[in-house]
Amino acid sequence: MRLLKKCECSYTIDPDRTVCEKCNERFMNASPPRFSLHDKYAGYRRRMKELAKEKGLL
Ligand SMILES: [Zn+2]
Repeated sequence: MRLLKKCECSYTIDPDRTVCEKCNERFMNASPPRFSLHDKYAGYRRRMKELAKEKGLL
């Protein structure tokens, strides 16, 4: 798994880049994209709820 790293101005997945040549900031490990994960599960929950309604479980 490639690690996403983040500086002040952009992102990279290149493991050899440690300092950004544009902003001269060190790349830090980017936190996982929680909001999209949340949306994914929210959508999943919605779908399950609709499915449950269809089957007369709610
Ligand atoms: Zn940068």
